[in-house]
Amino acid sequence: MNNIVAIVGRPNVGKSTLYNRLIGERQAIIDDISGVTRDRQYGSSFWNGKTFTVIDTGGFVKGSDDIFEAAIRDQVNIAIDEAAVIIFMVDVTTGITDLDEEIADMLRRTEKPVLLAVNKVDNAERQMEANEFWGLGFEETFFLSSMTGSGSGELLDLVVEKL
Ligand code: GDP
Ligand code: MG
Repeated sequence: MNNIVAIVGRPNVGKSTLYNRLIGERQAIIDDISGVTRDRQYGSSFWNGKTFTVIDTGGFVKGSDDIFEAAIRDQVNIAIDEAAVIIFMVDVTTGITDLDEEIADMLRRTEKPVLLAVNKVDNAERQMEANEFWGLGFEETFFLSSMTGSGSGELLDLVVEKL
């Protein structure tokens, strides 16, 4: 079993925000040394004594406004092939979209652990709204704000437990 954690989901749900939170300064240091572009897709992170690699799948597609569904499907398939654990991110501010449902269908077919991360749950009101995402049917559902970091610790506890 590898130690790769992939973050998948449609554009603008906050995948890169979580990725940057996980990779943090480590990524900046790597980029400085290697002189590569800042827009990297793989980074290394550390939680509860475990080191793991994070993939920000959004990096595969540029210009997130008009991403084709096929491109997103490709990203999800890459994650299913490569990752040990998959974080499926959705956005409480939009509710469940058709594309969320489509990605959920794909992810239900893998044996690998899939953790649903309902993002942008910045306050108590949004916590209420977030309950609709239990309807996607993922046993491991987490509510977090990648912006503030609130709730991300509980998600990471289970991520590294599954590695
Ligand atoms: P990606 O396309 O899935 O990688 O999404 P990004 O990480 O680029 O985030 C899309 C937008 O959502 C940006 O404007 C972020 O600042 C915003 N965002 C990300 N996480 C949160 C969050 O937890 N709360 C709020 N309110 N906004 C967020
Ligand atoms: Mg992104």
